[in-house]
Amino acid sequence: MTFVEKLVQMHVADHSKIKSSVDVAKRAMAIVHKSCHTTLWQEDAYLDQEIQRVQGLIESKGAANLPLLGVPVGIKDNINVKGTKTTCASKILENYQSPYEATVSTKLAEAGAIRFCKLNMDEFAMGSSNENSAYGAVKNPKDLQRVPGGSSGASAAAVAGGGLPLSLGSDTGGSIRQPAAFTGVYGFKPSYGRVSRYGLVAFASSLDQIGPFARSNIDIQKLYGVLEGVDPFDDSTRNIEFKAAAAKNKVAVLSEDLLKDCSPEVFSAYQRCLSSIESKGFELVTVNPKGIKECLSIYYILAPAEAAANLARFDGVRYGQREPSAKTLEEVFCKTRSKYFGSEVKRRIITGTYVLSAGYQEAYYRKANQARSMLRREFQKIFLECDYLFLPTTPSTAFKLGENADNPLAMYLNDLFTIPANLAELPALSFPVTNEDGPLPIGMQLVGPYGSDQNILEFERSIAGLSSCDDLGTSLAGSVWQEYLS
Ligand code: GLN
Repeated sequence: MTFVEKLVQMHVADHSKIKSSVDVAKRAMAIVHKSCHTTLWQEDAYLDQEIQRVQGLIESKGAANLPLLGVPVGIKDNINVKGTKTTCASKILENYQSPYEATVSTKLAEAGAIRFCKLNMDEFAMGSSNENSAYGAVKNPKDLQRVPGGSSGASAAAVAGGGLPLSLGSDTGGSIRQPAAFTGVYGFKPSYGRVSRYGLVAFASSLDQIGPFARSNIDIQKLYGVLEGVDPFDDSTRNIEFKAAAAKNKVAVLSEDLLKDCSPEVFSAYQRCLSSIESKGFELVTVNPKGIKECLSIYYILAPAEAAANLARFDGVRYGQREPSAKTLEEVFCKTRSKYFGSEVKRRIITGTYVLSAGYQEAYYRKANQARSMLRREFQKIFLECDYLFLPTTPSTAFKLGENADNPLAMYLNDLFTIPANLAELPALSFPVTNEDGPLPIGMQLVGPYGSDQNILEFERSIAGLSSCDDLGTSLAGSVWQEYLS
């Protein structure tokens, strides 16, 4: 049985255990937070309310109808949960109280989950290392000298460190999958439009998706099942029924040329996985999609352009705290944004404003959009021939804190293999695989056709044996849970 299954079973049998599970989560997360600096908001009074709410739900809906009964879930701090703060790890939103529920928060509540805490992240979800938080960097529970990846670094660290069974992150260019890979857990980015973004603070609206972290495929699927669905509050949600074509038993894999930026460990793990997939009876088809090498350039034009537009509202008037010394309206905007935004956020706003400016819009923004369409078509071609695309999640394992801090281009390279799925709006799962050449986790990725979200999860199970999350008991705080569950 999985972590979540055990907890739910325990709570169905004895509702009073929900409170003791929340206490265990508090103890385990205190350990993870102490080492990894994961938690931005957690309050006892709110948790008591959550426990009571779930008890009421049992009476009205029946315990058997609550798929996440009493399961504590950590939530990235760019998702609004009413009654909590939502800071996006930015100074500008330091005192911002969530005025309403994100749809995913409502769905968690309806499934009987406990919305446990708000988790640290890169400021406004911009980053690949979680060093861009205004409230301090997050550390990797597998090696405290290293980054957990970003921007959902604390969502990954909370689960990988054995603090919580489940968490939510958001993924614009890899922010769920890259941290999942760096910390050795499962992370899933759904097809664009499968999970509502209502209540998620927007970074790049045509790319953002909310998705789950867990320690197993089954638990990812459980949480994803709760989150997915059309939402009248988010017009970009779609209900396109996915009709799986007859299985072709072919898996697309990257040509060696595309793997040249991989570290030797990641390269050899990839080769091992390929042999294993082949040995399970699948034919491997080597692909070199046009535009894939340009993905970073496309993304780092489109995402900043959308970010510059989305972040215009944080000006000290509409949203965000205001710099008190400002006297004129212009000073309010300038001083507030200069003081309360961090340097990566400013870099994106400047880049985005530049590529959208009258003289350059055609050359950059439009061109990048055309290249994005081309990439989408390339993926459609791949999926005419193959069931899935299999590729590494990241070119390397987790790097040291500070290692890429002064080199944004080296930092952006981390997103090489994750960005294509966002640009093409496709579902993508990162799962942990064994690293035979070193101690750090490695993640591999399955990308499928639009809407094949459930199928990807099932496919990963069918090639299981590749994957290995570490034992809960060996993680930073996991023994606290293991004792409780045994
Ligand atoms: N690392 C990427 C960036 O900084 C992706 C971020 C994300 O997915 N939110 O833009």
